[in-house]
Amino acid sequence: MSTPNEPRRVAFVTGASRGIGKAISLRLARQGRHVVLVSRSAAPLSDLAEQIRAQGGSASYKAVDVSDAAALARSIDEVVSELGRLDVLVNNAGITRDNLVLRMSDAEWDEVINVNLRSAFVAIRAAARPMMKNRFGRIVNIASTSGVVGNAGQANYAAAKSGLIGLSKTIARELGSKGVTCNVVAPGYVETDMTQNLPDDIKARIGDMIAVKRLGTPDDIAAAVAYVQSDDAGYLTGQTIVVDGGMTMC
Ligand code: NAP
Repeated sequence: MSTPNEPRRVAFVTGASRGIGKAISLRLARQGRHVVLVSRSAAPLSDLAEQIRAQGGSASYKAVDVSDAAALARSIDEVVSELGRLDVLVNNAGITRDNLVLRMSDAEWDEVINVNLRSAFVAIRAAARPMMKNRFGRIVNIASTSGVVGNAGQANYAAAKSGLIGLSKTIARELGSKGVTCNVVAPGYVETDMTQNLPDDIKARIGDMIAVKRLGTPDDIAAAVAYVQSDDAGYLTGQTIVVDGGMTMC
């Protein structure tokens, strides 16, 4: 949390328009961050920025497709030149294109890898220099239990999420001496648009596999991200924090 005389730390959150990314953005704004909200369409981001300001927080937004590497890198450069800093990067934007591997098309594979994994690499590469210069940075990549234990029908998604874990450990090793940490938060099943089409009987079966006997909420995930990106978390890096209500326990 910044004191009144300190400039606010700046957080760049992708996939901020709804679901987990929206909850993370609201939470970080309450922690005193200026939050740059990012996803493809401007209207929900503008509404969320307004909501954050109405609550006394600070936010701006950029409509960017994170699978457009040049646009994503440019938006990070703009934030650094407009606001003078970038302290926190949350790579949260994600999609699913599920299919059994025998039926999965190249397009389904490529789209998920580009949105869920390549975008994180591109954003980290753009954010690393300004973070290193300030000798402070918190990078948080949102993966999934699918990337930790695998999930039938999600070869593309699990590969991307598993890739985020390897990427994060490597960034942790490369940037640790410069005050920049890099961690993963891996949710289990969370009630958002991404999971809303699951049939009720499947949701009930999933609920049975979860130790706390309920699906997660976006706020459950935002609470973990809030700690990982905090100033207090400087000794936590290269870790994967699984927030799944005790579903996998691995
Ligand atoms: P969601 O409700 O579907 O929201 C996805 C967000 O990503 C939206 O803000 C969407 O905004 C944005 N997005 C999608 N494609 C984008 C693109 N090409 N460029 C920019 N933004 C894009 O999903 P969610 O459940 O909150 O998931 C958030 C993250 O958590 C994802 O990485 C997901 O894989 C992960 N996760 C979710 C669950 C779950 O059970 N829900 C479990 C494990 C992990 P626009 O469509 O407006 O661009």
